[in-house]
Amino acid sequence: MPREDACLSSLSKHGLKLMVYCLGCKRSSEVDPRPLIEKYGHSYPIQRVQRHLKCVECGGRKATVYW
Ligand SMILES: [Zn+2]
Repeated sequence: MPREDACLSSLSKHGLKLMVYCLGCKRSSEVDPRPLIEKYGHSYPIQRVQRHLKCVECGGRKATVYW
């Protein structure tokens, strides 16, 4: 079960992709967590990543992540 405080390393550990759902255009896309880990570090909380993501479709910044 995903935990609220899950961090990026738990994705790579289980070989999981991060899913990003855009609240603006209702699209979801897969994000490879590896570049995010390189940028923010292994212990960075997944929940916090969503602040940095921008939707490729509509450029919206209101996104929610799940995994
Ligand atoms: Zn969008």
